[in-house]
Amino acid sequence: MKTSPEERRITERMQPGVLSRDGFLGEDRRSLGEIIDADRSSVLTLGFDQATLAARLQEILEAAMEGMGAPVRVGLHLEAVYRESMGRIPCPFGDGARFPKGEVELTDTSCSETLRFTPLSVHMIAAHGFFQGRGSRYRISPHALARVLGPRG
Ligand SMILES: [Zn+2]
Repeated sequence: MKTSPEERRITERMQPGVLSRDGFLGEDRRSLGEIIDADRSSVLTLGFDQATLAARLQEILEAAMEGMGAPVRVGLHLEAVYRESMGRIPCPFGDGARFPKGEVELTDTSCSETLRFTPLSVHMIAAHGFFQGRGSRYRISPHALARVLGPRG
């Protein structure tokens, strides 16, 4: 697949040390377009849609932020805690959006599965369908997300 200049610029901003220390692509060798396409079809195969997943993550994010560092129940088996961090980070897609740097740890207490995400993660899923590259600290695989936010949520 041919990479557009736009996609190349975004990919450069996603490298480690540009906007964040670890970058957004992990050890993923696929192109940005391939990562987004593969996750889009996983989401559909799982019977979800990106908007619904992102909206649920946004609710969890807001509830966790209100907890100000204390764990908050966000579902029958779900607990979320927000860890604040100094500063703000711009979206690597270059749309001018900026987000606080903290992270949410979301734990499914029935199986101890934990997902980590940031305000920027939620924006990138909602606005760009980007769940981050494999091996990235904040990658949320659609499968893990569907497991945790599934009917039991
Ligand atoms: Zn954006």
